[in-house]
Amino acid sequence: MARGLVVGDLRVQVLERAGACRSFTVVWPGGAVHEAADGFLRTYEGSGTQRTYAFLLVDHLRWLEREALALDRVGLRDLQRYMGLAGAKVAGPHGEPWRNGKRPYGRSALQAAAACLKGFYVHQASLGVNRELGEQLSRTRLPTRADRRRAFLGHVSRELPANPLAPPPVRRRHPKMLPEGARDRLLAVASTARDRLVVTWLSDGGFRIGELCGLHLADLHLREDASCGECRVAHVHVCHRAGNPNRAAAKTKPEWSMEGGVIRGGLIKRASPAMVHTYFEYLTGEYPRPGPGHGMLLVQLAGPGSGQPWAADAARGMLRRAGQRAGLGRIRPHAFRHILHDRCPGRLGREPGHRPGRGRVGVGDGRGGDLRPRRRARSGVRCGAATRVG
Ligand SMILES: [Zn+2]
Repeated sequence: MARGLVVGDLRVQVLERAGACRSFTVVWPGGAVHEAADGFLRTYEGSGTQRTYAFLLVDHLRWLEREALALDRVGLRDLQRYMGLAGAKVAGPHGEPWRNGKRPYGRSALQAAAACLKGFYVHQASLGVNRELGEQLSRTRLPTRADRRRAFLGHVSRELPANPLAPPPVRRRHPKMLPEGARDRLLAVASTARDRLVVTWLSDGGFRIGELCGLHLADLHLREDASCGECRVAHVHVCHRAGNPNRAAAKTKPEWSMEGGVIRGGLIKRASPAMVHTYFEYLTGEYPRPGPGHGMLLVQLAGPGSGQPWAADAARGMLRRAGQRAGLGRIRPHAFRHILHDRCPGRLGREPGHRPGRGRVGVGDGRGGDLRPRRRARSGVRCGAATRVG
């Protein structure tokens, strides 16, 4: 988030759109739109990437201003210098310090910055600006054996995209796993039914935190033979909504619809009995009555915003604190998806009427692969398995 208005500097401008959607662009100190940045960011309209890239890009554009570098004069070495100043391990002098007083980017922020800069300059090159740099950034590399194993039809791949700005890959034997017994220890220290719901649903359902915080009560079909007719057992429809009041949005965007109060489509995840149990415990014990009007599942339980939708950041904070109380160290929501993957390698808990899918099992290649065994039901509905097994 922008920390107030910085006079005399480029800044990110948030534009409120219809339906509580927000767009992000970069403006000059006087308020005029930075055309090059705006053109690039507009290609990410409606996606969370636009916000991330806007804040990464504005830092880079401010640096260009300080270095008095025009977009058509920037070279690969300049970008490497910039990445070095932002925290990457780059040999050679980088010039004057940058981002004084701010923490250097971590690994994933460096990856995101590298992707953002590559995208930005390749976009510029496509418009005829600094074509040479665009070509240098678009160079490819030969696939390794691990790449080929990982990719669909990997055996026929000849080249892969490479980003000379990205930090070198770290090969891990395992993805970031949850510590042993984390689910039960987190449940033991969770102080509210809502927090127990979050731990259980992340663990059993394999939700992303944005998906979970973006759920509406209408998305939950937690009984058999729900009226949508799309899944016989208890399940949840994960639907991408851009305008949720807590800004949480599902990353996946399969089409969904609401007809006569019944949700159909979206990404369908099955609900385990433990998920259903924690849901009822939360709804009967803590959910505001009368209903708060927004219809969202997860709400704040205390403070001035009590009853308002709960933001994904707040859920992350709850997990972090619960992890510390339970002596587990830092717990990130994404780690639950690796546990699910481990327990559910794509074959267990298959629903009748579904053809066996091809879960891409990736443990051992250092990337974790795709965690959701994707299947296509005969009706053509895409289902992500979300059944706790064992
Ligand atoms: Zn349904």
